[in-house]
Amino acid sequence: MIPRTHPLYGKKTYVPRMVEGSARALAAIMRSLGVDADVTPHSNSRTLDLGAKFSSGDECYPLKVTLGDFLQIIEQPGFDPKKTAFFMASGHGPCRFGQYAQYLHFVLGQRGCSEVTIFQPTTEKGYSDFGEASNLFTRGAWRAIVAGDIVLKLLLKTRPYECNLGSADAAYEESVKALCDVLEVPYPSSHKQMEALCQCLLAVRERFRALPVQFDPTKPLIGVVGEIFCRLNEFSNDELVRRLEAAGAEVWMNDISEWIWYTNADQHRHLRVFGQRFSLEAAGAHTRNYIQRKDEHTLVAMFREDFRGYEEPHEISEVLEGAEPYLPARGVNGEMVVNAGKAVYFARKGLDGVIDISPFTCMNGIVGEAVYPRISRDHAGIPIRNFYFDGTHSDLDRDIGIFLELARSYQRHKPWRREMPVIARAATA
Ligand code: SF4
Repeated sequence: MIPRTHPLYGKKTYVPRMVEGSARALAAIMRSLGVDADVTPHSNSRTLDLGAKFSSGDECYPLKVTLGDFLQIIEQPGFDPKKTAFFMASGHGPCRFGQYAQYLHFVLGQRGCSEVTIFQPTTEKGYSDFGEASNLFTRGAWRAIVAGDIVLKLLLKTRPYECNLGSADAAYEESVKALCDVLEVPYPSSHKQMEALCQCLLAVRERFRALPVQFDPTKPLIGVVGEIFCRLNEFSNDELVRRLEAAGAEVWMNDISEWIWYTNADQHRHLRVFGQRFSLEAAGAHTRNYIQRKDEHTLVAMFREDFRGYEEPHEISEVLEGAEPYLPARGVNGEMVVNAGKAVYFARKGLDGVIDISPFTCMNGIVGEAVYPRISRDHAGIPIRNFYFDGTHSDLDRDIGIFLELARSYQRHKPWRREMPVIARAATA
């Protein structure tokens, strides 16, 4: 439990609703530590109005959305700046993300709300911002992310084939709620927390397995990479995934945990480059890596059958090796490396196309766009295209239609065959 002296003690703390499941699960972990945490309300047109009003237009679109959501909270009746905190993750990567918290602080000052606490834990500090509860937070947050990824993956592999419209979304909502109920409880040990989480995920697995589905092997399977917020936040990407599904495709979304594995690998690389391979920091990083791998393995192992044909790379090095000819990780930093490597992975896994979702002007998307034609050329012409978002609306469905035509044509001659999921084999047995 956090002590009374902790900056979040007694404050309503809001976590950005980047992706429904993992964000709500993360807020639940914070509640287990005694923080009154919740996710920000659903984004709407007011989000964009406020985000645009208090930014110059040069900032990234995800900043506009998170800023707008936070500013909606200060408009709520009964809002008390002294009793409110905003959770804003940060990092020292190569892009503008590291400036979000400072900018939020600046805008809140302009709005006369500088007493709002901006809670900005960083990976570099090993999330030690939770004091004695830091280990509980770090481990619990990791489990929340992995569990959130699992539930999202179940949703995306089921929804395009559901027999009863809305049943997969309902199962997802029920599962996220069950996950939060389990994670918001303080446990006497991390072992007990894991036991409860496994029980919960077994029930989630059975819930999804029980849904009637009609698999169609001709549906194109599209891998989605891109900027983490924009690709996962339905509001920001104008529900691109649902639109793809409505147009007859299935989506395999790059998950959050892959980004964490990348940042871990990048930390190891830095330590090596700066001659700190045998330092205390390196030992800590190795231990964290080991524990995270163990936890992930325990959780994902229960879904081996369900995720057959949807296996993620065993190690992040597999993704980085894929990116090597285009964006070598020793010289390039950030999501563009993971996106390029994952596009290669998706092609070799037999997917029918790759989409990169990025905010307009995001350098990750722009650099990716420059190398995707080479990746496509080296991989039998698999269609890869960027979709940029900035809150304005274009004829997205028309562009999706054209892209899926290309994907269907590639599907007919692609050299890599997709391993069909278990439901497909059961349906055709
Ligand atoms: S990845 Fe792109 S959109 Fe996201 S913070 Fe960095 S520059 Fe902005």
